Amino acid sequence: MRKKVVAGNWKMNTTLQEGVRLAEEVNNALKETEAKCDVVICVPFTHLASVNAVIDQSKLGLGAENCADHVKGAYTGEVSAPMVASTGARYVILGHSERRQYYGETSATLKEKVKLALAEGLTPIFCIGEVLEERENGTYNAVVKSQIEEALFDLTADDFKKIILAYEPVWAIGTGKTATDEQAQEMHAFIRSTIAAKYGADVAEEISILYGGSCKPTNAKGLFSQPDIDGGLIGGASLEAEPFMGIVKAF
Ligand code: PEP
Repeated sequence: MRKKVVAGNWKMNTTLQEGVRLAEEVNNALKETEAKCDVVICVPFTHLASVNAVIDQSKLGLGAENCADHVKGAYTGEVSAPMVASTGARYVILGHSERRQYYGETSATLKEKVKLALAEGLTPIFCIGEVLEERENGTYNAVVKSQIEEALFDLTADDFKKIILAYEPVWAIGTGKTATDEQAQEMHAFIRSTIAAKYGADVAEEISILYGGSCKPTNAKGLFSQPDIDGGLIGGASLEAEPFMGIVKAF
């Protein structure tokens, strides 16, 4: 059975104090819930160590939202994978479309980041997805395939199996527009077949592929009941405990 995962992406939201409070709320809610999936929160770098101190990571995993493409050295303002791991975090989001779009992240940089994260024992939550124009001109499968091939396909099968993928159509992120259950399932099945062609059906069957893009308690059940959708990467709805837990309970 593939792992089911619901992961929050707080982005650049919450002060340290607000973030610790939100993490405590989610942690407390999980004590009273039999969650049928792994639950993770990915928080700003500044919050990692403090959030780690107030949550029970056997119930609520902790992750960063990015890491550097170098291990250490003269890279002012960057935060390395070893630094992230040293806070107690176990996950790291890589390749989010906002990083690709606003900070010029390319497949070549992401390839390095993935390797460095894996070397620290962090689980990358690796984001892929097409923009609206690519959806409309019908190139979306080719775009997503090349994002996976360029950044991930030089990994060994053993390393590839450590990754969680998140399909996030860029046109659905923060827009209130969700891919339909059918559109999302079609892409998830395509991603799984792309992995199968490279690493074999057994590896493809093991990889968790999350959906992200305006996922809410009201649409999570439909999305999560699709055979190739293994959970969600949640932005806006992860900023309050109640809607986030509503999505967790969709499993
Ligand atoms: C995201 O940024 O990963 C995301 C899915 O955002 P939202 O849920 O707000 O669309």
